[in-house]
Amino acid sequence: MAKRQFKAESKRLLELMINSIYTNKEIFLRELLSNASDAIDKIYYVALTDENIRFNQEDYYIKITVDKDNRILKIADTGIGMTKDELSDNLGIIAKSGSLDFKKDNQAKDGYDIIGQFGVGFYSAFMVSDKVTVVSKALGSEEAYRWESEGAEGYSIEPCEKEGVGTEISLQIKQDTEDDHYEDFLNIHRLRSLVKKYSDFIRYPIKMDIPSRKLKEGSEDDFEEIIVEETVNSMVPIWRKNKSELKPEDYENFYAEKHYGFDKPLKYIHVAADGAVNYRSILFIPEKTPYDFYTKEYEKGLALYANGILIMEKCPDLLPDYFSFVKGMVDSEDLSLNISREMLQHSRQLKLIAKNIKNKVKSELLSLLKDDRDKYERFYASFGRQLKFGIYSEYGLNRDELQELLMFYSSSERKMTTLDEYVSRMKEDQKYIYYASGESNEKIDRLPQIELVADKGYEILYFTEEVDEFAIRVLMNFKEKEFKSVSDSDLGLEADEGKKEEESKAEQAKDMLMAMKEILGEKVADVRLSKRLKSHPVCLSSEGAVSIEMEKVLRSMPVENGIAYRRTVRGRPVGIQQRHLQIDELKW
Ligand code: ADP
Repeated sequence: MAKRQFKAESKRLLELMINSIYTNKEIFLRELLSNASDAIDKIYYVALTDENIRFNQEDYYIKITVDKDNRILKIADTGIGMTKDELSDNLGIIAKSGSLDFKKDNQAKDGYDIIGQFGVGFYSAFMVSDKVTVVSKALGSEEAYRWESEGAEGYSIEPCEKEGVGTEISLQIKQDTEDDHYEDFLNIHRLRSLVKKYSDFIRYPIKMDIPSRKLKEGSEDDFEEIIVEETVNSMVPIWRKNKSELKPEDYENFYAEKHYGFDKPLKYIHVAADGAVNYRSILFIPEKTPYDFYTKEYEKGLALYANGILIMEKCPDLLPDYFSFVKGMVDSEDLSLNISREMLQHSRQLKLIAKNIKNKVKSELLSLLKDDRDKYERFYASFGRQLKFGIYSEYGLNRDELQELLMFYSSSERKMTTLDEYVSRMKEDQKYIYYASGESNEKIDRLPQIELVADKGYEILYFTEEVDEFAIRVLMNFKEKEFKSVSDSDLGLEADEGKKEEESKAEQAKDMLMAMKEILGEKVADVRLSKRLKSHPVCLSSEGAVSIEMEKVLRSMPVENGIAYRRTVRGRPVGIQQRHLQIDELKW
């Protein structure tokens, strides 16, 4: 039988995984049970929405069995199954392309970051097994197929016999080593406690044959060994439990099981709402930025359940773009199971839920900011950029919603500060909220433009991300204080300092200034004398809607985007902004 190769990248990932020093090998069970549960979700949904298919409740379950002598652990489900093509497509490719590049960039040290981040759940089976066999029969199919692999070398697929629809995964458990006690995964009691630990909330029964003893009939002290089939999990989904019954670990497990992130969530929010619309929701704010977060590939959304039944894995309408980092699920009894995507978008209930969720996330972020500054700053480091995009997009529609959540590095505090904090520290005579743009805090520290403002004792916000200045231009002001770039030709400082004298000096220097301007040509709009410089001879300043930093960003963008921005920067096309060369009046 011909061996099929894994896709090249998958092969490398698989090798990494198999040889990973990842210690928490037991999570393979959670991964396989989670897949089994998903597969039952799918068939359950079909059975509920397709009149030609009917199942009984008892038909949905997962069964774990152990064959100690042959070192086989088997996990069987009565889920939707996989066709031959699906076996090959789903189990032949591990990760999305590009994920290895990501790994290099992010200095992941072992397999840990890969698991979950790329949905390689199934492959975690290779951490504990020498050989993995998957026998599956898909719903609506007569044939069953066996997929088999001993690891990175490849896999085979061949037809086989299987009675009902569903999937059986058999793991040939590795021999024990000095460090690893793989034998544990053949121990019924150990397995049972792992199911309890990681998969208690799966809503279908996870059954195990538990050896037990029973009094022999007619005897009072003679026992016989019997096997009792037991449902090991509680089967109540976590979101249906009372918050008081749940521990942080329960939420963290749920987060990991659902592959919401490979980190520990920074915060979880459990909502049980009864009112205009009834729903339950568990929301997570991740700690780390997902590798594809700031790319087009990233899909926002929450899992949507109608009365406990999954109807959509990622419903985008539940989250505004600026909160696209939120992960989690919503379950509502007010939604119809048969609702189509188009109808869903217009559902009044869904809109209400989305609005509640948005408000909830906002208020949780604000309380994090107030009560746990350190956590908020970690959140902000990962997702602050998205909030700033949120202010900038949709013509500033959401600026009021988001402005309190902003933070920037402060020249005087030497740490992150909110706009509210800045304003509360403003000097009596200070008119503006000053900011300076640059590549990094260190570079901004050395900008000639900041000297005068800093000398006045005014605080300056450092803008180091491209979106910063764009967002601030849309914001325009905060608590009625306008923003002012330190590169602006009018800083609002010089006005009262001897206008007359300045004019006469400029008059004297006129010829030289003209000559300089001629030499510089198109590069600047004007050359002026300046009072703002202290230790530097010259600097650039700008006037109008597009600053020098913004222009750099606009120039570096692909054309289509450039045009989009052009439209929104107060209607000013790029490149005609007023740029001035400021010459220190004492040094010329
Ligand atoms: P993920 O679950 O994150 O998609 P996996 O590698 O664990 O990644 O699984 C890949 C795919 O294989 C799943 O998305 C699913 O389509 C399919 N699959 C895995 N296990 C099963 C199963 N027990 N029954 C049906 N399909 C499965």
